[in-house]
Amino acid sequence: MAEAELMDGNLVAQQVRKGLKDEIAAAVAAGGRRPCLAVIRVGEDPASAVYVRNKRRAAEAIGMESRETHLPAEVSESALLEEVRRLNQDPSVDGVLVQLPLPRHLSPDRVLEVLDPEKDVDGLTVTNLGRLCAGEPYLVPCTPRGILTLLDHYQVPLAGRRAVVVGRSRLVGLPVALLLLQRNASVSIVHSRTPDPAAYAREAEVLVVAAGRRHLVGPDWVRPGATVIDVGIHRTEDGLAGDVDYERVRTVAGRITPVPGGVGPMTVAMLLANTWTAYRRRQGPTDGAIPR
Ligand code: NAD
Repeated sequence: MAEAELMDGNLVAQQVRKGLKDEIAAAVAAGGRRPCLAVIRVGEDPASAVYVRNKRRAAEAIGMESRETHLPAEVSESALLEEVRRLNQDPSVDGVLVQLPLPRHLSPDRVLEVLDPEKDVDGLTVTNLGRLCAGEPYLVPCTPRGILTLLDHYQVPLAGRRAVVVGRSRLVGLPVALLLLQRNASVSIVHSRTPDPAAYAREAEVLVVAAGRRHLVGPDWVRPGATVIDVGIHRTEDGLAGDVDYERVRTVAGRITPVPGGVGPMTVAMLLANTWTAYRRRQGPTDGAIPR
C-alpha cells in the first residue's frame, strides 16, 4: 500500500535554527548585543516547566540570551502585569512571552493587553493579529508560522488549492487559516459546531488539524493524496499522540506530519525566529522595512 511522505519537523526546525544561529553569530561578531528572550512562568505546572526549559535551551543553543521570571501560583494580577511592563521597558529584552496556561485567577487577555506588541513573540496581541488580518503580518503566532514554513519546505502548492482547517482558536486555527488565505488557498474552517466536518475535510488538498481531540481524524476524513498537518499533542501511556490517527491516515495521505517530530519542533523554532525578527526591528532598520 502506498505510504505518505513524512514531513520531518525536526529536520526543518534544525535548518531554521542553524540559519538563525549563523545570523546571530554574524550580528554579534559585528559588535551587536545578543538577542534576548524573556519568559514569564507562573506557578508549578509541570508541563509548563518543561516547555519553558526547552524554549530557554533552544534560545541559548543558537546564541540568544534567555531569561526567566518565575512567579508563585498565587501572584496577584497587578504583580504579574507589573513584571510584563518591566520587561516591556527593558531595552535589553527583545521578546517576552507568558507561558500558558495561567492559574485560573489570572487572565491571559489582560496580559496581552499590557504586553508591548513589538515584543510579542507569540504573536497573540490584538495588534499582531490585526496586522495579520490586514495582510501585513509582523510577529505571527509560532505554530501557524511553523506550519507554513513546513509546507514551503516540502513545496506543497497552496495557491488555488482547497485547504481545510479543523479548529478556530486564536492560537492556531484562525491564524493558520489567514496565512493559507494570504497564500491564495481557498480556505474553509470547521469547528465544534460544524455538522459533519469530515465532509469538508475530504475535499481538502491541504488539511490542518488543530482540534485538541486525540485521533479525531481517520482515513475517512482524508482525500487520497492530501497533505495532512497534525497540530494536536496528547500525552498517552504509549507516548505522544496527535489529532490524526497517523498509522491509518498515512496510507491515504500524500504527505503527513508525525507526532512527535512534526509541528511541535517547528513551533519552538518559530519562537526563536520571531525573537530574531523583533530584535532586528528594534535595532532599527533604516529603510522602514519590516524584517521577515
Ligand atoms: P483549542 O481547544 O483552543 O481549540 C480547538 C478547536 O477545535 C476549537 O476551535 C473547536 O471548535 C475545534 N474542535 C473541537 N472539537 C472538534 C471536532 N470534533 N470537530 C471539529 N472541530 C473541533 O485548542 P488549540 O489551542 O487550537 O490546540 C489544538 C491542539 O493543538 C491541542 O491538542 C494542543 O495541545 C495542540 N497544540 C500543539 C502545538 C504544537 O506546537 N504542536 C501548539 C499549540 C497547540
